[in-house]
Amino acid sequence: MHGIEPSPAPPRHARDHVRGHAGARAAGGPLRLASLAKQVPLTESLRLAEGRLVRRDVPFEMNPYCRRAVAQGVALARQTGGSCTVLTLGPPSAEDVLREAVAWGADEGIHLCDERFAGSDTLATARALAAALAAAGPFDLVLLGRNSVDGETGQVGPELAELLDLAFASGVRRLEDAGASLRLELEHDDGTQEVEIALPAVVTVAERLCDPCKVDPEGRAAVDPGRLRRIGAADLGAGPWGEAGSPTVVGATRAMEHERALVVLDGPIDAQVQDAVDVLAQRGALSASVPPPTVPPGPIPADGPHTAGQSERPAADAPIVAVLAEPGRPHVVGEIVGAARRLARELDAVVHVLAPATTPATAPATAPATPSGAGPEPAPEPEPDVLFGLGADLVVSLVPATEGPAVPEDVGDAVVAYLRQRRPWAFLAPSTAFGREVAGRAAAATGSGLVGDAIALSQREGVLVAAKPAFAGALVADVTCRSGTQMATIRPGVLPDPAPVPLPGSARPGASEVRVLGRRGRVRVLAEQRNDDVETLARAAAVIGVGTGVTPDEYELVSPLAAVLGAELAATRKVTDRGWAPRARQVGITGRSISPRLYVALGLSGKFNHMAGVRGAGTVLAVNADRQAPVFSHCDVGIVGDWHEVLPLLTAALRGANVRRDAAATG
Ligand SMILES: Cc1cc2nc3c(=O)[nH]c(=O)nc-3n(C[C@H](O)[C@H](O)[C@H](O)COP(=O)(O)OP(=O)(O)OC[C@H]3O[C@@H](n4cnc5c(N)ncnc54)[C@H](O)[C@@H]3O)c2cc1C
Repeated sequence: MHGIEPSPAPPRHARDHVRGHAGARAAGGPLRLASLAKQVPLTESLRLAEGRLVRRDVPFEMNPYCRRAVAQGVALARQTGGSCTVLTLGPPSAEDVLREAVAWGADEGIHLCDERFAGSDTLATARALAAALAAAGPFDLVLLGRNSVDGETGQVGPELAELLDLAFASGVRRLEDAGASLRLELEHDDGTQEVEIALPAVVTVAERLCDPCKVDPEGRAAVDPGRLRRIGAADLGAGPWGEAGSPTVVGATRAMEHERALVVLDGPIDAQVQDAVDVLAQRGALSASVPPPTVPPGPIPADGPHTAGQSERPAADAPIVAVLAEPGRPHVVGEIVGAARRLARELDAVVHVLAPATTPATAPATAPATPSGAGPEPAPEPEPDVLFGLGADLVVSLVPATEGPAVPEDVGDAVVAYLRQRRPWAFLAPSTAFGREVAGRAAAATGSGLVGDAIALSQREGVLVAAKPAFAGALVADVTCRSGTQMATIRPGVLPDPAPVPLPGSARPGASEVRVLGRRGRVRVLAEQRNDDVETLARAAAVIGVGTGVTPDEYELVSPLAAVLGAELAATRKVTDRGWAPRARQVGITGRSISPRLYVALGLSGKFNHMAGVRGAGTVLAVNADRQAPVFSHCDVGIVGDWHEVLPLLTAALRGANVRRDAAATG
């Protein structure tokens, strides 16, 4: 059992070696780049048998986002007369991604390869990579993918940044070299940000940043082995590495994939439509009373429950379930505080909410840069009274010392100070760019286990069990933490709505506290724009996915069907690439995974990379003019025809079905 321990980090002099020249680089000077690349199973070839992933004979490839990290690293090295080193951690077969990177133009490949690295979770991976970067540096910029398409946590980047004490930005889709800093456009969950980030830095890249690095097998085989280097665990220090150094434990896994009925209709369109509506009705896909599919409860993890944290708590203290309340996301905050409240009730625990605030321009700018103490009045977001109403027992307002909103790296520092002081049983944050950075940094600084992007939370015998989807939702695993504080980020929109805790009279049931944030000042937000809401698709009971077969000027023709179904619109990557829909609406392996009761695939080809994102959907209806389109191999019922002709008939038939159902319900 672990308490809150600082992570074994690279020695101070080694970290200084990586970062000790900030500001020294003039605009246009050579950049020393490190790109990280992960080898992942080719998602298309994954099979499930008896709820487990079949890995035998599965081909591997470079993670799609890492292909951009390598391509951008090589391009910047060429532009500036610098160098690009590519690192990977993985078994001997992972050398292939280094060969691909070197064949693409990287100067050197470093392979962290040792049986002692086996079973590394994100923190153990980040520690090994941080140690290797410190040894191989100095580097001005570390580039990696925003996440891997198998693990889908997006945690290694912020954990690495924390271990190397560097600035961090995620989801870069445009990068401009400004000498001692970079100007970046970031693609976040439901919006964009423009930031200036001081070098040296760690950044994760989005798909749209540049074309991917891709080399054929002959080119990879021809790489000079002298350009590849292997590093073992002993070269990086005492560890612990691999499973021994991993504070999370993966327990039972279950398959989430639905077997599709594959009924593909033919004949006159009106007859097909009527048959399709009958199939939908039989499957309960139209009934508002059938809840969308949820995660089946899993058995207790194979190695038995832990009770980490409890024995380390002073007996007089109630356990604490702590929540990070991201500003500007009241609904997400409500969901997570609600989940914390439910856990707290079972554990006889209390709920603390850490609420980053914005310091208004009129507030005194001279508050002390200490992690606690009296400071300027917090901005009213999120309101402590609202948080008490949701069930918070203590609200800790995190107030920036200077004017402006709280930035993740400063909030991360305050969370670390809070975790060390209060030693909560659990710390829960939203799985958004903000939450992932704060939680990732805090987990790395305290050596805590962090489960990324959980879709359900429970406790069994005093242990937090977080259900974590992987492989675009094909599998869900129960993951637990061995650390004193058990951490998880939660996917927005998947937990039940909280029931507000009634306030007795006007009495305030909770206490509040103000902590003034320190200021690292390495990331400056220049502009921010939200173009969607990250929860919308997750909450929708019905979703209509549009492909390039539906052009934006035709979206209004889809509205009547959306209205009848109460559906939200989603899109393919080709559609979001063209800017026809916000990126938050992209479904698929590099988009979102959703599990509505009904998914209608309209004018989209249904390639695997898209359909993987709707594996959890209760029923899939496909409409496509091409009988050979792959979507007909991934649907429950398919209408073969031009959607312009199908849609009015389908909308009318569904309206009729609703009327009949409502009449039956009231009669
Ligand atoms: C590494 C990687 C990751 C990827 N990740 C994703 C991802 O996350 N999400 C994603 O969506 N894609 C992803 N893709 C891309 C994916 O493979 C497909 O290229 C993409 O989904 C296709 O988009 P589309 O169906 O809109 O377009 P198309 O493939 O061009 O299909 C258009 C379809 O519309 C049909 N159509 C046209 N007009 C009509 C009409 N009038 N009536 C009926 N049907 C009509 C056509 O028959 C055709 O089947 C990824 C690709 C790679 C390589």
